[in-house]
Amino acid sequence: MPLHLFCARCGRRLERGITYYIVTVTLTAEVEGGIFQGRGEGDLEAIFSQVREKSAQELEEEVYQRFQFLLCKPCRDVFVKYPLGDEVSFSPVGQT
Ligand SMILES: [Zn+2]
Repeated sequence: MPLHLFCARCGRRLERGITYYIVTVTLTAEVEGGIFQGRGEGDLEAIFSQVREKSAQELEEEVYQRFQFLLCKPCRDVFVKYPLGDEVSFSPVGQT
């Protein structure tokens, strides 16, 4: 049985020979100044308490997630213009 590929945005079937695009999103957690910077003992105990209450999977998902999906050309063009959605302006890291 042949494997069929579909655009993740519009659902269009990506026929043999058509150009499609692979989007890879890596989402990582960061804390400005570091997680322990400027925190007192009570704050640290609260952080450790929150960590103890979560499963390893929950903790991993909070700090790192990776998504990958396929797009057709028209959806690729829209995605490049509005990667965060139609209503959200986009400013890549390091640019203002
Ligand atoms: Zn599409």
